[in-house]
Amino acid sequence: MLIREFISETNKNKMISDLLKYYKVGSVKVKQKSMKDHAHYNVDTGTLELSTRYKTIKNRQIKEFLITILHEIYHAMDAKKYGWKKFKDMYEMEMNLMIAKGKDEYKDNKYEIEAEEFGQRNWTKWKNKFKKEGLM
Ligand SMILES: [Zn+2]
Repeated sequence: MLIREFISETNKNKMISDLLKYYKVGSVKVKQKSMKDHAHYNVDTGTLELSTRYKTIKNRQIKEFLITILHEIYHAMDAKKYGWKKFKDMYEMEMNLMIAKGKDEYKDNKYEIEAEEFGQRNWTKWKNKFKKEGLM
C-alpha cells in the first residue's frame, strides 16, 4: 500500500482551480506569499494569497487547508456578488460596527463568520471527492 505523506504541488493547484471554477470565481488569481495568516483574499486585486506554509500539504494539514481555501473563496463569491468596491465598503462598515460595539473586528465580523461556516460545512465533501479522484 502506498501511503503518501505529501500532496504534490500539481495536485494542490488542480484542487484550488477546481474549487474556484466550481464556485464560479475562476478569474481569481492565486499567489503564494510568506504571511502570518493562513490565507487572505485581496479584494482590490482579486487575488487569493496563500501562505507558503501550504507549498506542499502534509496529510495532517488537509482539513485546515480545505477550510482555508473554501473560506477565502466565500469572500471572493461575496466580492463577485456585490461588486468588489461595494463589498469592501460593506466589510469595513461591519468592522467599524464591531469596534463600536466593543467586539472583535474579525472574529465577530459577520462576513468572517459566514466564510468560516461555509468552509466548515463543505470541506468533507471536497475531501471525499479529491480522494476519489486520486488528488490526495
Ligand atoms: Zn476571512
